[in-house]
Amino acid sequence: MNRQKTVGVLALQGDFEKHRKALERAGARALEVRTKDQLAQCDGLIIPGGESTTMLKLLDLEGLTGAVREFGAAKPIYGTCAGAILLAHQVTNPPQASLDLMDISVERNAYGRQIDSRIAKVPVKDGGEFEAVFIRAPIIRKVGEGVNVLASYAGDPVWVEEGRHMVTTFHPELTDDDRVHRKFIAKL
Ligand code: GLN
Repeated sequence: MNRQKTVGVLALQGDFEKHRKALERAGARALEVRTKDQLAQCDGLIIPGGESTTMLKLLDLEGLTGAVREFGAAKPIYGTCAGAILLAHQVTNPPQASLDLMDISVERNAYGRQIDSRIAKVPVKDGGEFEAVFIRAPIIRKVGEGVNVLASYAGDPVWVEEGRHMVTTFHPELTDDDRVHRKFIAKL
């Protein structure tokens, strides 16, 4: 029998606790990651929502930026919201550094200040729909050729994958629907 997979949840800042619970419901072991040693124990990594600027700073402070980039060169990473911003090739509004692991361009806080958050029904490519929670979400403005769009909302991609990596601009960990986490675990 295959050993149960371990998924790290980057736990420097933001919404990591709910991801842990969603992963456990979806059948994986979850490990909060704050050090290189913890990262080395993982088969995949989730970068949660939060504040991407703060997360970038903390990754640098903890000496983890290079380690996460190298991890992503070999193993799957799933970025939620701020995590999606960290994985993108290009970030605007304002421009900022990133891990540059996926061929997507994102605009931060793109739904505007007046709409801080919303819940929307989003149709999913494989059938059915998803109740998507957006919180100060970015919009994915461009996707490269190798990127597969799994769900869109109002004409913009909100769930995409490229090879081993995946992002959502919404927060599936805030609902009881485990499909996004299951899709990620299947990549491990
Ligand atoms: N607005 C945040 C950022 O730009 C992302 C919000 C979130 O992760 N829910 O980093």
